[in-house]
Amino acid sequence: MSDQHCKRCGNGPDPDLRTLWMSCLYQMNELDVPFVEKVSEEGDRPFYTLKVCKDCRAEWMGMIEQWFKNVVPKKSPGTGIYLRIRGASVEVTEDELHKARAIADAEDAIEKAQDVIADAEDALNR
Ligand SMILES: [Zn+2]
Repeated sequence: MSDQHCKRCGNGPDPDLRTLWMSCLYQMNELDVPFVEKVSEEGDRPFYTLKVCKDCRAEWMGMIEQWFKNVVPKKSPGTGIYLRIRGASVEVTEDELHKARAIADAEDAIEKAQDVIADAEDALNR
């Protein structure tokens, strides 16, 4: 997708794209969002940008507002088991822990398979 298309919905070519700028002292490129990582002129902090159309910008602003207005009370399952989720410590049930481990194992397996495929492609191209 070119820079002239919305990175979210693909609308374009649209010369009226807007650039969202985000920074929260977290590696936002860990999210499955095609952010572009940049560094401030002072070089001290990374921030992330995303070029989107006005409709997607409006939805993004609406989601930020919903997030701010709808605080979900914390519920403790009382397990004392914590997972680090997007930089926050979240207490989970044993079932949630097992599911999280299964997902992590599957992601590791996918990464290893992708490495094997990349090595095979390199070998074929030599
Ligand atoms: Zn869009």
